[in-house]
Amino acid sequence: MLRLALHWQILIATIAGAVVGVALNRWAGEYAVQFEPPGTHLRLAIHDSTNRIEIDVLDRRTGETRHLVVDPTSPEAFPTLGDLAATEPEIYKWFRRRGRSLARRVGDASHALGGLFLRMLKMVSVPLIIASLMSGITGLGHARRLGSLFGRTAVYYASTSLLAIVTGLMLVNLIRPGLGKALAAVADGKLPESAGLGEVLFQQLEAMIPSNPLAAVAQGQFLSIISFTLLFGIFTLLVGGRTAEIIRDVFQAIFEVMMRMTMAIIRVAPFGVLMLMLSATATLGLRVFGPLSWYFLTVLCALAIHAVFTLPLILRFVAHRSPWQFAHAMSPALLTAFSSASSNATLPLTLSCAEKRAGISNRVSSFVLPLGATINMDGTALYEAVAVLFIAQVHFGASLPFSQQIIVAITALLASVGAAGIPHAGLVMMAIILQAVGLPLEMQGIILAVDRVLDMCRTSVNVWSDSCGCAVVARLETSRAAHAPLPTRATTDDAFP
Ligand code: ASP
Repeated sequence: MLRLALHWQILIATIAGAVVGVALNRWAGEYAVQFEPPGTHLRLAIHDSTNRIEIDVLDRRTGETRHLVVDPTSPEAFPTLGDLAATEPEIYKWFRRRGRSLARRVGDASHALGGLFLRMLKMVSVPLIIASLMSGITGLGHARRLGSLFGRTAVYYASTSLLAIVTGLMLVNLIRPGLGKALAAVADGKLPESAGLGEVLFQQLEAMIPSNPLAAVAQGQFLSIISFTLLFGIFTLLVGGRTAEIIRDVFQAIFEVMMRMTMAIIRVAPFGVLMLMLSATATLGLRVFGPLSWYFLTVLCALAIHAVFTLPLILRFVAHRSPWQFAHAMSPALLTAFSSASSNATLPLTLSCAEKRAGISNRVSSFVLPLGATINMDGTALYEAVAVLFIAQVHFGASLPFSQQIIVAITALLASVGAAGIPHAGLVMMAIILQAVGLPLEMQGIILAVDRVLDMCRTSVNVWSDSCGCAVVARLETSRAAHAPLPTRATTDDAFP
């Protein structure tokens, strides 16, 4: 029987999910209903048109009426359904029971099913990171070798993120998506409180010194887990001898089991991706892009330039690898990043693709990828820079001066380091940059509508950059090893499905 390769299955699932979702949104995205919920004295008139929900509530006893709206682009409305649920739980309950369009119902159901796939990935991610990092470090044979690995990785992270930001800034200044467009400015409130940049970075530093490493593991705090595991690995090497051997063997064994488990989960990736795509597109549709199309295109073009030119050039000339083949090898991870919008959730796939499909040693991938998923986010950095400049263009009716753009670039870099590898983390971190250049945070409202799709794109770029970094560092490490050979360690080389 013909069995398609995994990356084809995932690609087909991505496209099928998007096409069905958009079609549903187009033809089954509107729904209007009036009813009197049993056991209440209310009369509800609900109009669900996917991106905007309007609910008229009549209290039949008092005759009082209320008009509730959920619309991310309108300053007077609830930005999300979650906000409606928190403030009006009773109304939300009836909306879910009787007021949803078919597109939204399918979207919600597929969201729940796609969520199961994400749970599976999250289930393996913490043990996989720990086992992978430990077997990688203990396989180094000597703690000193970690220094050069760290140095190279840090240089790669910083330089590619800066390149991404510069690309974004160039395009946003060239296209000027926020000038001369009919976008309603929503900046009329005062600045809400939000942590400053120094505070956020200090929190990162604190996260690197977990007061309770087991709690960090239980809560899935990646940065704390990585730093403690690194220390544990380094000290294992420093202790050396029989102890180090035992620890290495134990973690090597756990790593092999976790890798097998990950590969089994990856077999359901096409289904998970199909569900996630369906849920994203069924509720979003294409209408949201209308007023924001230039902004959307600017981010997209800048991301494309970074992913299709800058990173492949680095891959070709520094890592000496064929970008096409490498992208092919990493494609299951890249497509999963796209559909899940989470670098952290994708990490198990990224690790296994890098090792099993791209042939990168566990020693390098186990170090570069988990750290990259947490702190190296080229796509997010680029997006932050473009979004803030776009908001400034809409708000001031002019581009930000050059000096302010430098501030945006630096804060975008640091904010991307601080952003977690989860959906919409970049949007949350943007508050820091807006504050740095004195823009009102409410202005973020204007870009909310298209954030999910941009999140999917930037997350793929984040994972692509981590993967390219892995190849670059692996190459640099190998050429160094040619002068001072490293002890090799066994790797599993089962064929990837
Ligand atoms: N979703 C992104 C990631 O996981 C972070 C972001 O929101 O930009 O990499």
